[in-house]
Amino acid sequence: MSRVLRAAFCFCLAGLAGCGGEDRAAPEHPVVLIGFDGLEWSVAGPLIRAGRMPHLKALIERGVAGALDPQRESLSPVIWTTIATGKHKKDHGIVDFLTPGPKKIPFTSEARQGKALWNIASDYGLKSLVVGWWITWPAEAIDGWMVAPYSSLGQNDFNWKGNMSRDIEGQTWPPELFQEVWPIAEEVAAPKNLARLGGELFGAVDIDSLGAMEKMLVTQTLWSVAADETYLRALLHLLGRKDGRPDLTLFYDGGTDVSGHRFWRYHEPERFAYEVTPDEIARFGEVIHRFYEQADQYLGQALAAAPAGANVIVCSDHGFHADFTEKLPQFGFSGHHLDGPPGVIVLAGPAFRQGVGGDVVLSGTGQPARIGSVYDVAPLLLYLLDIPAGRDMQSPDGGNLLRLAVRPEQLESRPHEFIRSHDVGFRPAKMPTEVSGEATEDFMEVLRRLGYLGGAGE
Ligand SMILES: [Zn+2]
Repeated sequence: MSRVLRAAFCFCLAGLAGCGGEDRAAPEHPVVLIGFDGLEWSVAGPLIRAGRMPHLKALIERGVAGALDPQRESLSPVIWTTIATGKHKKDHGIVDFLTPGPKKIPFTSEARQGKALWNIASDYGLKSLVVGWWITWPAEAIDGWMVAPYSSLGQNDFNWKGNMSRDIEGQTWPPELFQEVWPIAEEVAAPKNLARLGGELFGAVDIDSLGAMEKMLVTQTLWSVAADETYLRALLHLLGRKDGRPDLTLFYDGGTDVSGHRFWRYHEPERFAYEVTPDEIARFGEVIHRFYEQADQYLGQALAAAPAGANVIVCSDHGFHADFTEKLPQFGFSGHHLDGPPGVIVLAGPAFRQGVGGDVVLSGTGQPARIGSVYDVAPLLLYLLDIPAGRDMQSPDGGNLLRLAVRPEQLESRPHEFIRSHDVGFRPAKMPTEVSGEATEDFMEVLRRLGYLGGAGE
């Protein structure tokens, strides 16, 4: 749709109080949100103080830090969709990994009720860059660029994180962007590169020497290492484009969640009813820390490539802790978040106050206070983009998060605005498209290959 048509379309549907359409100026300061799944303050805090997460530390020092309440939700597809819509799951419709009822299908963007931030930004003539975000496949037609992961049903028992696949349509917007980013996925998946990444995160572990359960933990985790690295490189590639600066950048990284699920027993062995041996701790005790360091390096690279003067938000969908502590050691998972422990939020940039809430992290004197919930993020981002929030969002005024994080002078000079809803006239939600077995076969093939790294596998 042309800008003029879009403006007319908006005008008819939303009325005078609605969207700004074609004549809306891009916001002075672009917005960049970097999401780290399951990032947990109790892990990040000591690493920050030890100088092992310098980029997050720098943001805390010049911005606002706190805990983000997932509001009793614990599943990543649900929460990341809430963060992107400002809606409760009953309103956005993404209620789990798979559709309820007898026929289980992985949720897709088609099943989302109502607009996400990238649709709304497009209505207002702003460009979005969205990479690696949950439940964005098939990529929607937006003003901007999207690289959308797909998780096949067959991944259910192994690893839910989506990655790029050669044969699935709809992984990018615009569609021809796929030709540009697919070579990145191939580069990352090259055995030599995967071995390098594995070495960085797992140290000099000889996969052959591991027991079956440990081998499974490593290979399943390497799957998301490959996915995260692919999307990070795709993000950096797209941020380097010359044909337009994104006003809104959203990036998702999953390694902090995946490593937390699989390696917590080595991180906090004293929490478990069974013995974690000194050998096992020596082998894997640093794995979660290395994933957090990698997340921090990703953050540094993303911010170095992002538009200058951006308002930056780093957040996680939930925190993490030891879990299944009474189960037998053969049970693969040892960390979880089913009770929705609070996640992380850090905000820094021209719109935000400085040096608020982070002192407890920097000094090690406690955990940051809860300063908002996952419902507050979308309205805050809209405010930063100078777009009104929908009154049908769960927390249209951005709650405490907006009032605590944004500089009071800014809020006074430009108060938050509202419209009834952004969703008038939006396409109806439908059942997710089911991708045939190919996606599962692709996934199994990569998993087999990961098992062979280091000469292991059967
Ligand atoms: Zn998780």
